[in-house]
Amino acid sequence: MSFNNLKLIEPVLRALQKEGYTTPTPIQQQAIPAVLDGRDVRACAQTGTGKTAAFAIPLLQLLHQQKNNSANHKRPIQALVLTPTRELAIQVEESFKAYGRFLQLRHLVIFGGVSQVNQVNQLKKGVDILVATPGRLLDLMNQGHVSFDDLKFLVLDEADRMLDMGFVKDVKRIISRLPKKRQTLFFSATMPFEIVSLSRDLLHNPVNVEVTPVSSTVDAIQQHVYFTQKPNKTFLLKHILSDDSIETALVFTRTKYGADKLVKFLNKNDIRAQAIHGNKSQGARQAALKSFKNRKTRVLVATDIAARGIDIDDLTHVFNFELPEIPETYVHRIGRTGRAGASGHAISFCDYVEKPLLKDIQKLIQKTIPVNNDHPYALSEELQEMDPKPVKNNLTMVKGGRGRNAIFRPARARRR
Ligand code: AMP
Repeated sequence: MSFNNLKLIEPVLRALQKEGYTTPTPIQQQAIPAVLDGRDVRACAQTGTGKTAAFAIPLLQLLHQQKNNSANHKRPIQALVLTPTRELAIQVEESFKAYGRFLQLRHLVIFGGVSQVNQVNQLKKGVDILVATPGRLLDLMNQGHVSFDDLKFLVLDEADRMLDMGFVKDVKRIISRLPKKRQTLFFSATMPFEIVSLSRDLLHNPVNVEVTPVSSTVDAIQQHVYFTQKPNKTFLLKHILSDDSIETALVFTRTKYGADKLVKFLNKNDIRAQAIHGNKSQGARQAALKSFKNRKTRVLVATDIAARGIDIDDLTHVFNFELPEIPETYVHRIGRTGRAGASGHAISFCDYVEKPLLKDIQKLIQKTIPVNNDHPYALSEELQEMDPKPVKNNLTMVKGGRGRNAIFRPARARRR
């Protein structure tokens, strides 16, 4: 694949040649045709992948072609690139300069920490492409120095960093004042669910571009083990789901009966849940799945067999209500989140007798899953550390209390 295959115009190809680029990087191969086709793009890519050129090259080309079409151009801002930092903003503008060196387009970079006078003067002269950090841009917008009435393209660069740096509110404020009819390109190195949710608000039927290697999928998933007593698992799930930011959760149970029982409990506690398992008709399964995909159902409780082939975009959380007997099943289960480079969460509940299963899983994935004890139903540390030998149905209550307050201990361990 060479740049000649990407339907680029001669002055752009000449500029790339001057830069010494011969082959488009994977993100450029995927994003450039999509942008030239007028599509919105959601790209998951880190710095160093050539992501800047992936949006700058097609934007320059589209703007150049539009400019040629309109005889009377008064140079309103047509493209806005938002970046989280001043350094990145400068770098991005330099890229526009380099790839657009044989085109007659004007670009400007604005950021805070310096006088605004020069920036305002430049804006008055007319700019085709504006690269900006959110704070200064909002400031200049509020002063009436910037108009986006003719804006056609928006690029949000390093969206996850915008979130980390606390700029998302400013970004949303800016975007709310842009024309709705535009082409939007969304770039982020990671896709935590806040970012996926933001992208969903901004993008219309986007082309998804991902350059994260598939092998790292499982690494992108944040895995945790919550040690707890079996009778406390339902309460623990309810406790975790009280976090409203968990938009979708797929919960795996070992049995159909367990799945139904859990759904009843969740519904009783005002958590919208449905079960999907082998005792349900195909129609009922499809309906449950559709409702989950449409986000009418927040929690889908499934057994392994029924869950086979379920492919849900943007699934944020997978719960192992019970650990699977076969360690490979764990990998299949958690692989349903963290798709397309998005970051997902896999939370496993483990009671004392399941510890050997956990050991097998950790051996398979060659990694110790971090333990989260920051919840009201944690197993005592003593029990967590005890040698994980299977102790089936051999638990005695060592501390009184009913239901979730009871503490159980294996009889054998207690005698030690
Ligand atoms: P970025 O991921 O946008 O920060 O780009 C990383 C670096 O790769 C920059 O220094 C670019 O100049 C360079 N670069 C981008 N695209 C190409 C390409 N197709 N061939 C060679 N270098 C490239």
